[in-house]
Amino acid sequence: MTTGYLYHEMFGWHDPGTAAGLFASDPRLGIQPLQHFEHADTKRRIHELIVVSGLIDELLRIEPRRATEDEILRVHDREHVTRIRAESERPGGGDAGDGISPFGSGGFDIASLAAGAVLEAVEAVFAGRVDNAYALVRPPGHHALPGTGMGFCLFNNVAIAARHARYRLGAERIAVLDWDVHHGNGTQAVFYDDPAVLTISLHQDNVFPLNSGRVEELGSGAGRGYSLNVPLPPGTGDGGYRYAMETVCLPAIRRFQPDLVLVASGFDAGAMDPMGRQMVTSDGFRRLTELTMEVADEVCGGRLVLSHEGGYNPAYVPFCGLAVMETLCGKKTVSDPFLPLVAAMAQQELQPAQRDAIDLAAAGLAGIEGRAG
Ligand code: ZN
Repeated sequence: MTTGYLYHEMFGWHDPGTAAGLFASDPRLGIQPLQHFEHADTKRRIHELIVVSGLIDELLRIEPRRATEDEILRVHDREHVTRIRAESERPGGGDAGDGISPFGSGGFDIASLAAGAVLEAVEAVFAGRVDNAYALVRPPGHHALPGTGMGFCLFNNVAIAARHARYRLGAERIAVLDWDVHHGNGTQAVFYDDPAVLTISLHQDNVFPLNSGRVEELGSGAGRGYSLNVPLPPGTGDGGYRYAMETVCLPAIRRFQPDLVLVASGFDAGAMDPMGRQMVTSDGFRRLTELTMEVADEVCGGRLVLSHEGGYNPAYVPFCGLAVMETLCGKKTVSDPFLPLVAAMAQQELQPAQRDAIDLAAAGLAGIEGRAG
């Protein structure tokens, strides 16, 4: 198994400033400067653990490139791209669009490199240079809408990659599985009326964006049936996530028969995350990866690309990232020292309220049709 790996030191230089988690410091409002939730350390520490554990020697390093403006415009409005570019030129930079997603000078270049890294990953998989790939990118992408960035995302990396696979690599159907703890609203919006791209989002119910990702959101027009949402109760652990995969995500992908599976891979459903209230362990993420690889093997020759999204505990996230990448390439390195603690948390196994929520979402499977003929 050859696994492609994409990272660039520039991703650590994306600068969200000194917000106190979400909010810009302002003494008049009592907000002290601190560190933005989406700071570099979580991602940089994944990369450093990949190197220090020796896993880097088992991965095929692929150099990211910048996405071109035309590639970004396959998903985003020209006004949005022009605004991000202009704000990126300013001393101090700008904001992706919602006031909680600041970026520094040169942010346009870093966001273009993040989108381009996922394109490179998809190209490597389609060319057969690798079996699967992980793009450890920053800034993330899954909240970015065609007309604006939001939720720390400037450009929708996964959506841009899906369009690239469709328009340039001959993929007819693409499934996007999003296991970030927040709703993959941007990706859903891009493809809401498009039956060629199935979006499936597993997320904690009503965390971000608010009032988004309800089970009733199934797509519109020709795309009706090709958006699936599994809003999970807070406290869902490895058992609930596994049940959601087996009951909704895997059957959906099997029915859909895509040519490529993309994963929006956030680790903020992790048991120690400051932004989510879920309990997934590194072993849980390992299992999610195994199941996704199995279904990709079944339907599309194993073509699988994961693009990094959220995950905000710098101590724990690296072990989740390591577990996923170990699984992709079939190697094992160091053990997660937190695992005995987080795996023993009460109610890691599927709970009745979780089962009910997942079963409700499974009703949406009926709207997915396989390939014609
Ligand atoms: Zn997230």
